[in-house]
Amino acid sequence: METSCIFCGIAFGKIPAEIVKDSGALVVFKDIKPKAPVHLLIVPKKHVESVAELAEEDRGLISDMVYMAKGIASDQGLPGYQLSINVGRAGGQMVNHLHMHLLGGWEEPGN
Ligand code: 5GP
Ligand code: ZN
Repeated sequence: METSCIFCGIAFGKIPAEIVKDSGALVVFKDIKPKAPVHLLIVPKKHVESVAELAEEDRGLISDMVYMAKGIASDQGLPGYQLSINVGRAGGQMVNHLHMHLLGGWEEPGN
């Protein structure tokens, strides 16, 4: 845990957030500035700065995050959703702790 990191603080209960799920290795919480009706962040408890800093030993984190997203989306009854990971400041990453966005909850397009 990095004491100066917001998402480490949330993952270890030092900073409040609306937690949706807490598994052994991952925590899922609501984004503070949602960009969709459902906007969740899927975050490993291990402090890894970004995909660009991912070590070979940590590559399983990404599949765990995707699998967690699938389960959460199913729990919330989302018929479709977007998963995204911003990488580096130039890629839109503002918080330097690996995280995946899960966005959904929009109306399904009509036929
Ligand atoms: P990024 O741009 O790094 O991919 O996304 C960071 C996300 O974290 C943003 O959507 C932002 O709204 C969210 N965020 C930043 N600080 C906090 C916080 O303290 N609590 C919560 N719940 N979300 C945060
Ligand atoms: Zn961190």
